[in-house]
Amino acid sequence: MDLTYKRTNIYSVADAEMTNAIMAYSEGYKRFLNAGKTERETVKETIAMLEKEGYKPYELGDKIRKGDKLYLSNRGKALFIIRAGSANLAENGVRILVAHVDSPRLDLKQVPLYEKSDIAYLKTHYYGGIKKYHWLTIPLALHGVVVLKGGKKVNIAIGENDSDPVFYITDLLPHLSQELNKGTIGDGFSAENLNLVVGGVPVRGEEKNAVKKGVLNILHDSYGICEEDLLSAELEAVPAYKAHDVGFDRAYVAGYGHDDRVCAYPEITATLETETEQTVLTILADKEEIGSEGNTGMQCILIRDILDAIAASYGVNPAVLRQKSKCLSADVTAGYDPAYASAFEEMNAGYVHHGVAMNKFTGARGKSGSNDASAEYVGYLRDVFANAGVIWQTSELGRVDLGGGGTVAKYIANNNIDTVDMGVPVLSMHSPYELISKADIYSAHLAFSAFVK
Ligand code: MN
Ligand code: MN
Repeated sequence: MDLTYKRTNIYSVADAEMTNAIMAYSEGYKRFLNAGKTERETVKETIAMLEKEGYKPYELGDKIRKGDKLYLSNRGKALFIIRAGSANLAENGVRILVAHVDSPRLDLKQVPLYEKSDIAYLKTHYYGGIKKYHWLTIPLALHGVVVLKGGKKVNIAIGENDSDPVFYITDLLPHLSQELNKGTIGDGFSAENLNLVVGGVPVRGEEKNAVKKGVLNILHDSYGICEEDLLSAELEAVPAYKAHDVGFDRAYVAGYGHDDRVCAYPEITATLETETEQTVLTILADKEEIGSEGNTGMQCILIRDILDAIAASYGVNPAVLRQKSKCLSADVTAGYDPAYASAFEEMNAGYVHHGVAMNKFTGARGKSGSNDASAEYVGYLRDVFANAGVIWQTSELGRVDLGGGGTVAKYIANNNIDTVDMGVPVLSMHSPYELISKADIYSAHLAFSAFVK
């Protein structure tokens, strides 16, 4: 009897049918990635998927009935999907899946537009953890909303169609980088230099700010925007790339914002496609990348309000419902990268192609700030996945004391709900073009489906 544990490479054991299923699943995922590059767009795209399947909008205060398929959009930036099941909630609680749909990016400042040396720029303030040099000399698109005087909201997405212009942040040529190269990557690139080139044609006859005025004319003609309207705007510069297969064998998908849409998508497909008696609450959260703060982040009390509404509708004590509920906090983890092997501890890293990865804990310096799931809950999930034939693995976010990170898990667990992190391993995480294995996102779909079953 072999008593040893080892990980399984999914591609090495997949038969033709499984391989086809993996490849086919990734096509839907790429469409999802291209359709939503921001939290708002991803929520909108998900609502379109839900409405096709008969889901209806839910308002706080409405009664929930067994069999209902509902969604609540929280300010268009976060989404709660409710599948009201027939199982006894006092015994089973609610199955909760949560992923986030905000990704690292460059937000425009509130007074962003200026011109220097006949070049017009937009100033940015980065959102989430980025390596600043990643954002230089790549095509950037602008997505978001501008609320005009009087409240009219204008949606903007420029840079995604082949005929669209894109935006651009310059870098210094290597010939003149002798001094720049002496700095560190951490301090060599200033956040205040992350300014988008947005114009170059002056308004003829204007003495001052002629290029800036030219840009304002275009914004006004196209969207009815004047400079003051940018005070009430949320505009995000994101990579203009589309998602692509990577490799001769197409084993991978590269895309912007795998973190965390690579977990949001399988959550959605598991919720839509699984036959189950359970009540399922699937959440797409905002603001995870900046600490889950604010009224669209997972620290907001809205999750409690929704669980209370479910409990009240079913006539179940809300504290009992929470205690019996279970959650998979679906967020990406660092995939082991042989090019940077010393950043990882090989026995406990998550490996691409080896399935969705469970992080029993996250945090930094002695698990600080982490939801450390119980052995009992991990044991329960092991059986769930084993019974469903899911290939999965465990993972740790890098070598101990090298760094660390957190997720929304603790904010769910704080409600007295068993919660563990589980997500797809990503290479080049938080870069403008991240890499995942198609086998791993399909494994996430199977794992999340087994969890809500
Ligand atoms: Mn994440
Ligand atoms: Mn992240």
